Amino acid sequence: MQILEFIGDALELVGLLPGELKGWLEENGEPAYRYKQIFDWLYKKTVFAFDEMANLPKSLREKLAASFSLPSLTLMTIEDSADEETTKFLWKLRDGKLVESVLISSGDRRTVCVSSQVGCPARCAFCASGKEGLIRNLTAGEIHEQVLQIQAQLKKKGEHVSHIVFMGMGEPLDNYDQVVKALRLLTHPLALNLSPRRITVSTVGVVEGIEKLMDEEISVNLALSLHAPNQNLRKKIVPYSRKYLLEDILKAVDLYSKKTKRDLTYEYVLLKGINDSRKEAQELGELLKGQHCCVNLIPYNPVDGLNLKRPEKESIEAFREILDRAGIRSTWRYTKGKDIAAACGQLALKKMPPKEEALITL
Ligand code: SAH
Repeated sequence: MQILEFIGDALELVGLLPGELKGWLEENGEPAYRYKQIFDWLYKKTVFAFDEMANLPKSLREKLAASFSLPSLTLMTIEDSADEETTKFLWKLRDGKLVESVLISSGDRRTVCVSSQVGCPARCAFCASGKEGLIRNLTAGEIHEQVLQIQAQLKKKGEHVSHIVFMGMGEPLDNYDQVVKALRLLTHPLALNLSPRRITVSTVGVVEGIEKLMDEEISVNLALSLHAPNQNLRKKIVPYSRKYLLEDILKAVDLYSKKTKRDLTYEYVLLKGINDSRKEAQELGELLKGQHCCVNLIPYNPVDGLNLKRPEKESIEAFREILDRAGIRSTWRYTKGKDIAAACGQLALKKMPPKEEALITL
């Protein structure tokens, strides 16, 4: 079957949709109904050792072990932040590449921030993930397994993953098919059964991806990483956005939110002296006027080697007040997990061998 994902010499088990696993079982002379038992072990019991899948015959367990890799991610490090609200997981993939996920705990919420690619093509000026450019896409299984392995850890404390945000490494809409497949599996009743209302896909604004996503049967929340109120400044902060006019991106996200009736958030990383003045706040207010949305103001979280600064609290408050007056709802807080470098991509980048490549500066 074409759809099965190969990395190295074994198939990935996490990442197969029920129909795909049924197909594999039939092709291998096994009764198709076993897929339900396997799903139950993986997604409800979070058991990753074939030996422990007690209601499967030994012959099937052996066939599975010979054909599939499980798990596909190896946990390299876990780091807790001092406030114990964020935990960062660094994973090694089967080809040795590194990606990370962050667990954010807040009240009853357990939000997993997942990576969708190794590296990132967007190369945003303030972000660690894009420093090396895009290395490769993650498979649906690799995306899903970040959540599943964290779920297994949470279960030990009687907790479970409640929300997912695609705000880790990578541009999710640049890896469209695998991300949508991961969404189908994350929301599947036989798997984690997460509500699409609790999932947010964050994008720099891949117009054709947004247009496709609004027609999928699974409607998730959308976040647009805006970071500037006009095309000129934006293309400096988000080089990838040169491909698209801001106008077209805004049209696409507006249509997305009208069609899907899901939440629309604009992320705006505040960079001192670059996009944080009153003028930009006013322009942003004008740009988003009348939209039903929320702007998430994120003070820049320092990344090694980048010569950028976060604004003072007073100027963030002033920025916010201007948005307020324009009738635009906004939130802000200092980025969680600052002490463990939780801003996207920093941990993996630290562990990767440095490359002789110019960093993006403004
Ligand atoms: N490519 C997608 C998904 C990555 S998430 C996108 O750009 O939306 C990107 C988000 O990570 C940014 O919007 C920002 O909110 C956050 N981020 C990355 N680096 C950061 C930094 N150094 N400081 C603060 N926020 C950062």
